[in-house]
Amino acid sequence: MNLTNLSTIREIADKFGFTFSKSLGQNFLINPSVCPRIAEMGGADENTGVIEIGTGFGVLTKELAKRARKVVAIELDSRLIPVLQYTLADYDNVKVINEDVLKVDLPGLIAEEFPGMEVVVCANLPYYITSPIIMALLEQRLPVKAVTVMVQKEAGDRLCAPMPSRECGAVTAAVRYYSEPKVLFPVSRGSFCPAPNVDSMVIRLDVKDALPLQPEEEKTLFRVVKAAFGQRRKTLPNTLSAGLGISKAEAAEKMAAAGLKPTARAEELSMEQFCRLAKEF
Ligand code: SAM
Repeated sequence: MNLTNLSTIREIADKFGFTFSKSLGQNFLINPSVCPRIAEMGGADENTGVIEIGTGFGVLTKELAKRARKVVAIELDSRLIPVLQYTLADYDNVKVINEDVLKVDLPGLIAEEFPGMEVVVCANLPYYITSPIIMALLEQRLPVKAVTVMVQKEAGDRLCAPMPSRECGAVTAAVRYYSEPKVLFPVSRGSFCPAPNVDSMVIRLDVKDALPLQPEEEKTLFRVVKAAFGQRRKTLPNTLSAGLGISKAEAAEKMAAAGLKPTARAEELSMEQFCRLAKEF
């Protein structure tokens, strides 16, 4: 069964009375070269357990199942469960969970489903919740090696922007704190059914083993980052004062203690400099 073939997709949709839901971000991949590349570059191999988020008809799930030891696929839309029983019938290393990924106990799932395995996440994400999903995966400090996901091009540019740079924002800093982000390849809008109004890209976040701050310090870091990027064109004493409710003099003092110029702006700081600044608070 070729799930990148449009007539096959139509046949399956007719057989199960399925209609695409825009609000669930249901744009399914029909470019045959994309899913094998996500699976390969995402690290799905015989020693690895894969968590997939959002299966659709299972086009990526199949490519993951062919390569990985085990795949646990989380899909919110209950209408897709009978479809997946049909499309994935030949694969005995796939478990489908009908839940909202943001409500799943992922640490528990990993411990139960993937004992002794290296774990990666691979997905063509529903774009309406790209950042919440990525942040939930990273903030929980899950024991996963990498997160390889298809995202909207603009979101990918922001998530993978270098630091410092004019393109970076609070989400860039958060991603860069927990991982080394990398753009893998672009994907055109015509690679999906139905075609979305935007182009996409596949990115990989290689999750860091060790982090420089303790969980309590991390909270401060992200408060500082959020305040700093709140008004990105202003200098940091202004943005920190407004965002953290302190005086400009106090903000400038902390910056000096962290070795930063008082004229610095958020987009001019590296991740290391943000960490140094957070420690001063
Ligand atoms: N993997 C398929 C593909 O590449 O063709 C489908 C990708 S489609 C962009 C996103 C999928 O995520 C849809 O099947 C949608 O129902 C599912 N989804 C949306 N919100 C979800 C959530 N909160 N938790 C789990 N799955 C979700």
